Amino acid sequence: MKNFETIAIRTQTERSQFNEHATPLHLTSSFVFDDAEQMRALFSDEIEGNIYSRFSNPNTTELIDKIRRLEGAEAGWATATGMAAVFTSFGALLKQGDHVLACRSIFGSSHTILTKILPKWGIDFTYVDIHETEKWQDAVRENTKLVFVETPTNPGVDIIDLEWLGQFSQAHQLLLVVDNCFATPYLQQPIRFGADLVIHSATKYLDGQGRVLGGLIAGKQRLIDEIQAFARHSGPALSPFNAWVISKSLETLAVRMDRHCDNALRLAQWLEKHPEVELVKYPFLPSHPKYEVAKKQMKAGGGIVTFVVKGGVEQGKRFLDRLQMLSLTANLGDTRSIATHPASTTHSKLSEEERLEAGILPGLIRISVGLEHVEDIIQDIDHALKTT
Ligand SMILES: *Cc1c(COP(=O)(O)O)cnc(C)c1O
Repeated sequence: MKNFETIAIRTQTERSQFNEHATPLHLTSSFVFDDAEQMRALFSDEIEGNIYSRFSNPNTTELIDKIRRLEGAEAGWATATGMAAVFTSFGALLKQGDHVLACRSIFGSSHTILTKILPKWGIDFTYVDIHETEKWQDAVRENTKLVFVETPTNPGVDIIDLEWLGQFSQAHQLLLVVDNCFATPYLQQPIRFGADLVIHSATKYLDGQGRVLGGLIAGKQRLIDEIQAFARHSGPALSPFNAWVISKSLETLAVRMDRHCDNALRLAQWLEKHPEVELVKYPFLPSHPKYEVAKKQMKAGGGIVTFVVKGGVEQGKRFLDRLQMLSLTANLGDTRSIATHPASTTHSKLSEEERLEAGILPGLIRISVGLEHVEDIIQDIDHALKTT
């Protein structure tokens, strides 16, 4: 059992005495001990077993086992949200005086953790430009401990070369942490390129149906041991119900991602020919500046397409208002296609200059391409782009 689809479907926790086919839901906060001796042995880690669902639960254990195998990692951990996965990893692995290198185009809340939360504990960071890798060397300090990146990035779908980054991190003995949310392990496995830790917002493609929040971490055993020690006591545990939902969703991840990617590529190719569109960015379009790198490290281009409408902020907002089917909502990676306009929403608090630095042009639209029929998606966008 070594192919992705089979692992995603057949990794399953032990069956109960009822011999159920699908995994049952273990909604329990704690577990009963046979006797005082078993209780003692469990608490002293002499034997493995469930004690309390903040530490472990059969549903979260099944999900962790799946993501670990799908990412090709030694070990894994599950958290309540993607941000809990980011924060738990930083909290467990960084200490006062450490320094982090990160690319500027990271998820908004990850930016807030670096800029507002970690400095409270004396942990500093430097942003490096994803396009100017030759400058990264100069940003490394004696106390640099960790490199944190996303690829593809949000919302610009920029790509960073993971092979180069793996070698860079190893040469400087830095921990490489990759937020693999946009690609999923089906399209990209950062550990193959030398990442030490992979982080997911399972809220996005892993659930893929806009139902639950969740976070996952996969990577080296010694790092996961530290994360587990931190998380058992600080409490970002994933609910067993959400673990059950996400584990079931992973059974269809491969077929969903294939269709997300097919629809996204079709839409991107169509947009490139549209007279009201200034620029289209999609990793698997030959016009993408890192097309070759994307081809090297990703199986397909992913489900996110960004484009720039002519006419700036006003035209971007007008486009959203004219959509009839696509949802205006803050999520992505759903069966339903979603449109957002970063300049007037998620990135509106930045200055114009900061936005441009992060690659957010005034007319930039981000489409999370869903699983509706591609002709219907295109038709809705075509209608919204019409100026008359
Ligand atoms: C959504 C997202 C997160 C945060 O995940 P939550 O589950 O919302 O906490 C982190 N990174 C990326 C790239 C995301 O898209």
